[in-house]
Amino acid sequence: MRGVRDLLELETQKIQQILGTFQLITRKAGYHQITLPSLEESSLYTKSLGDYSDIVTKEMFYIQNKSYVLRPEGTAGAIRSYLMNCLLGEKKLWSYCGSMFRHEKPQNQRYREFYQYGIESISNSFTPASDAEVIILAADILTHLNVPSVLHINTLGDEQARKDYNVLLGEYFQGKTLSKLSENRKQAQKFLRILDSKEEEDQQAISSAPSIIDCLGQREKDYFDEVKIILEKFKIPFLHNPRLVRGLDYYSNVCFEFINTKALIGGGRYDNLAGMVGKEKNMGGIGWAAGIDRICELVQLNEKQKIVGIVPVGSNCVEQCMHVARKIRMESEFIVKMKTEGNSVKQHLGYLKNYEPTFIIFIGEEEINSGCLKLKICATAEHVFVPIKEVFDHPAVTLSKFLLN
Ligand code: AMP
Repeated sequence: MRGVRDLLELETQKIQQILGTFQLITRKAGYHQITLPSLEESSLYTKSLGDYSDIVTKEMFYIQNKSYVLRPEGTAGAIRSYLMNCLLGEKKLWSYCGSMFRHEKPQNQRYREFYQYGIESISNSFTPASDAEVIILAADILTHLNVPSVLHINTLGDEQARKDYNVLLGEYFQGKTLSKLSENRKQAQKFLRILDSKEEEDQQAISSAPSIIDCLGQREKDYFDEVKIILEKFKIPFLHNPRLVRGLDYYSNVCFEFINTKALIGGGRYDNLAGMVGKEKNMGGIGWAAGIDRICELVQLNEKQKIVGIVPVGSNCVEQCMHVARKIRMESEFIVKMKTEGNSVKQHLGYLKNYEPTFIIFIGEEEINSGCLKLKICATAEHVFVPIKEVFDHPAVTLSKFLLN
């Protein structure tokens, strides 16, 4: 099927490690992970992302007479869950991860099922510092993963500013020839959504479109300036991109994207979202979602896991080897590789070679009789004899003694 992939063991392992970094750093910042369903009612997205957003017009996977969809993003679901499960006004710092589904034209780094890790800071009070903190957290994670990117930020102002901007864009796009999709948006007077277009034929008109700056009230301008000042103080480089509009109706005020050729993380404030999903006008928040598939392609993992290989010398020592393997797995950080099928020592070693083990332990009848196993330190090819009881009783301490610095 186009746009969906099998992620085999190496890729899955990398994704898990990347997710581990996201989880660790966001947990330290006070976020708690929640699990949201992959199926939602389609009305959740038509109400909040907007009828003329790319996602609603052409990318949702509908099921059962269009009543339900496979979730295309996480924020609307998080707010739905907040409104259903939390006391209104209660501040929540949530994270989530999982598959998202969009029926996009499959191409490089754009999939129909892809993986996001996101955070939402849901609260009815906010300050430039709380917004900056959420952006800094994303920047810190990318730095930690050693993924270069450029932070683009903009403000979408309040509802009035967006209305005024829509009028301004309407005047600008009048008389311009646009793609079919953008012409539909023009007809429906959703001029702001034209700025989301990825169609080649719209790009020239979009690049010279007026910016929202002139429609902003003084309060929004000051707020945005304050966020930028904090980012500067924290030495987070950014680019003010006045045409960044983030594609969905629910965004307001500050919005941002971390870009490395394509967007890696995108987010912003959503002060109207609870009002769109329910009727709670006074509940807002800010969050971001990271595209794990794209980040995965840019991450080099150099952290090498320590592996112990075990070789049963003779088929009647397999169970003894299994006991030792089990103990090491349970009581140390080492990964243990061992084949239980009885093969020759040569074949066991051939199997282990692929894993580049730190140590190889040999256990045969001789070793069992003497009470000492043979341990090969692979980096130096040195062999040492170690009491089986020591490895069995204190695997972590005993094996660590032979690690080279
Ligand atoms: P969005 O919810 O559109 O702001 O997306 C947030 C992040 O998810 C983007 O910055 C991308 O990294 C990633 N993303 C969005 N759509 C796709 C897709 N179709 N395939 C892969 N990654 C995606």
